[in-house]
Amino acid sequence: MHKKLNLKIFDIISKVSDEMQQESFVIGGYVRDIFLNRPSKDIDVVTLGSGIELAKAVAKNLNPEPRVNVFKNFGTAMLKYKTFEIEFVGARKESYQINSRKPSVENGTLEDDQNRRDFTINAMALGLNAANFGQLVDPFNGIEDISKKIIRTPLNPSLTFSDDPLRMMRAIRFSTQLGFEIELKTLQAIAANKNRIKIVSEERIIDELNKIIMAPKPSSGFHILEETGLLEIIFPELSHLKGIETVNGITHKDNFRHTLEVIDRIAPNTDNLWLRWSALLHDIAKPSTKKFIEGQGWTFHSHNFAGMKMIPKIFGRMKMPMNEKMKFVQKMVLLHMRPIVLSEEEITDSAIRRLLFDAGNDIDDLMILCEADITSKNQSKVNSYLGNFKIVRQKLKEIETKDAIRNFQPPVSGGLIMETFNLPPCREVGLIKDAIKEAILEGEIHNNFEDAYSLMLKKAKEFGIEKKN
Ligand code: ATP
Repeated sequence: MHKKLNLKIFDIISKVSDEMQQESFVIGGYVRDIFLNRPSKDIDVVTLGSGIELAKAVAKNLNPEPRVNVFKNFGTAMLKYKTFEIEFVGARKESYQINSRKPSVENGTLEDDQNRRDFTINAMALGLNAANFGQLVDPFNGIEDISKKIIRTPLNPSLTFSDDPLRMMRAIRFSTQLGFEIELKTLQAIAANKNRIKIVSEERIIDELNKIIMAPKPSSGFHILEETGLLEIIFPELSHLKGIETVNGITHKDNFRHTLEVIDRIAPNTDNLWLRWSALLHDIAKPSTKKFIEGQGWTFHSHNFAGMKMIPKIFGRMKMPMNEKMKFVQKMVLLHMRPIVLSEEEITDSAIRRLLFDAGNDIDDLMILCEADITSKNQSKVNSYLGNFKIVRQKLKEIETKDAIRNFQPPVSGGLIMETFNLPPCREVGLIKDAIKEAILEGEIHNNFEDAYSLMLKKAKEFGIEKKN
């Protein structure tokens, strides 16, 4: 076991703990990740005594001596060692009140401290004193749960989740990140306690949700959220995508399943959280735009536009950033059908230029989203779409090299138009500018100053505007 604690810092904590005659342990996520062979940057040290005093003494034994950040209210102290953040805390016993996930805390034993941990795999400790260095203290058999890939609470799951309902999100998050199964009783306790999630802040919920979204296979987390009833509470819009309807024997696809397929398909192709959010939200307005039209079947007219409009409310409620990140997601949702529509028709240069103009620098992300959106069961349909996308991508490259539309700046500015014709800001200036942009996108003129300037003169003449001398 010694080789598991092979950082020099553990020897130092060991020596200092012995000198202070204080028992210390590494505990929680770092221990779990040792056995999972996962890299881990946060080290939690629990000690039977003052965590703050231990941290200060450890710091004195390091060269250079690091700063110790003390959080007096929590009785914890943190220091940085190389790329690691090490937190020191005295072992504690916790008790909860009904309305809060913040417990009252008193000093406790190692056993008390392990009892308050959320899952068996997060409750393991390794001894740090010379007498027990590297020895595993695993009262709930977390080691076996790791080997069986099981998420399970150490104590009564219903009490564990009711005490701190954030643990329900954490269970689902760990299960999704690690590919572990949530033990049946634990899962049932989540369903039974789902309403307790309402006492958890949106920020904490979103932290966990984002980790689920960033996992290799996010769908597994969303399925559990849905099955346990949590999704309906924390993200009703997504939950409402579920279900199918049949009219005259015509059924539409289940948009919840489709959305989860899209987010799984996009996962290997991007680490951009906001592009993954775009995948999650791309069809979010399908329920509200759904109509059955005789002769046409199911339609979801303008669901991209309606979806874009829904996003500020969702982001606002979930306390997500309402800045350019949200705007990016809105843009992706609005444009998500464009390359598909394009690939269904003859792919003209002007359609490609318009797509480049509207997507700008986000064109590559949009293409990744669109490719993930092709989820038909009919493989030859999928192949044909993906083949068309290859052509779209190729054309995008050609047109971009030729016309540089991606970062379109009008080659003739409004200022120049006003100056040339001695005009104040007025409608005609806008019309001339638009005419130039349209002509470039349609391929009638090149994207350069000379062509734009002569078109400006021509259009002005049409409007009866004279050039000043
Ligand atoms: P990650 O770094 O992936 O978030 P972690 O397990 O290290 O995983 P932390 O949030 O840093 O997560 O928590 C460290 C340890 O503290 C956990 O392993 C667990 O033992 C304990 N813990 C954290 N949050 C809770 C909680 N809400 N209830 C009970 N124990 C918790």
